[in-house]
Amino acid sequence: MDYERVRETDPDVAAALDGEVTRQQDSLAMIASENHVSEAVLEAQGSVLTNNYAEGYPGKRYYGGCEYADDVEQLAIDRAKELWGAEYVNVQPHSGSQANMGVYLAVLEPGDKILSLDLTHGGHLSHGHHMNFAGQHYEVEQYELDEESGRLDYDAIREHAEEFDPDIVVSGYSAYPREVEWERIQEAAEAADAYHLADIAHITGLVAAGEHPNPVGVADFVTGSTHKTIRAGRGGIIMSREEFADDINSAIIPGMQGGPLMHNIAGKAVGFGEALDDDFDEYAAQTVANAKALAEGLQERGFDLVSGGTDNHLVLVDLRPSHPDTTGKTVEEALEDVGIVLNANTVPGETRSPFNPSGFRAGTPALTTRGFDEADMATVADCIADVVDHPDDEDVKAEVAEIVQGLCDAYPIYEDLA
Ligand SMILES: *Cc1c(COP(=O)(O)O)cnc(C)c1O
Repeated sequence: MDYERVRETDPDVAAALDGEVTRQQDSLAMIASENHVSEAVLEAQGSVLTNNYAEGYPGKRYYGGCEYADDVEQLAIDRAKELWGAEYVNVQPHSGSQANMGVYLAVLEPGDKILSLDLTHGGHLSHGHHMNFAGQHYEVEQYELDEESGRLDYDAIREHAEEFDPDIVVSGYSAYPREVEWERIQEAAEAADAYHLADIAHITGLVAAGEHPNPVGVADFVTGSTHKTIRAGRGGIIMSREEFADDINSAIIPGMQGGPLMHNIAGKAVGFGEALDDDFDEYAAQTVANAKALAEGLQERGFDLVSGGTDNHLVLVDLRPSHPDTTGKTVEEALEDVGIVLNANTVPGETRSPFNPSGFRAGTPALTTRGFDEADMATVADCIADVVDHPDDEDVKAEVAEIVQGLCDAYPIYEDLA
């Protein structure tokens, strides 16, 4: 990563960029929503398409000069259709949250009803949190996980839907380590004559590679972020049936956006192209295998996992049984000291505050991109356990920091690191 020209004209920003390159290289990104995109995706996202105004859609733009923008957007759309099997794709949402907003704008009126998972149980802000636009403009009720099993209770969701009579049921989650049975949520939505939005932000890549069941063709709308497991750089995407194309297109523009971020759409096109390659299926399978290895390693060290394990790319640890006096924030901070970056997270039946909750979430997408395998994940699990067992012991932390640095050195993220 050479930010030579930035360094010449703006040393302050260059210093921060250099610092970030080093931080990523010298730490383990275990935030479950993060990944490392390829240099090709970085190049595309840093391309001259940032200069271009392409309001409209391929072939139907408001301004001239969009011939290459059309090519790029059409490539992104066609590749997404192939990856997820969707009839209709919109690659213009600036992020996953905007993708959700686009669906709401397309089919809901202000005051309509949303049924979604509670944020502290693994939902997302854009599913109707009271501080979010969705919570402010729609009437929201939320379902919860079964506290005993840590899993979705599909019968309860269906009963809730029959009682609340929502206009849309939202599925898809930020901290749920298990497979989602889309058909069961679809049944709940149908029981209330509601639409079903499946938000696969986290698991886009796993779904594309067949590592998780695909909601496309089951739910009415499928949304996602493009920078998580699919590894195509920052952005959002909406997929649906052809019948909703006009409503969604006009919800995005003029409904909520002006010009699309064409440079990001170029990143999506390149990243989706990479994901169509067989290597990507291996990557996704390894991501899941690594999460299982991490889960087993932590369980061997006495940690309690919400739902007892994982089917996807993340684990959610409930600290209360094994470390009743340790909070998620303590863990997050102690691990950051040794170069392991993950986040404190609420757990089902949370008894502490969301700012200092009782659990932590750890994901494997970024480490798997670097080349980590199951044996490495066992090492990482021991590193985490050693620090959580002794969060204030500087000797333990120094030893772990050395192991972490060794792993970072063994798996460079980018070849031409400055
Ligand atoms: C990450 C996430 C989103 C979107 O987040 P953005 O940062 O706006 O891309 C939406 N839904 C869920 C469930 C998520 O985890």
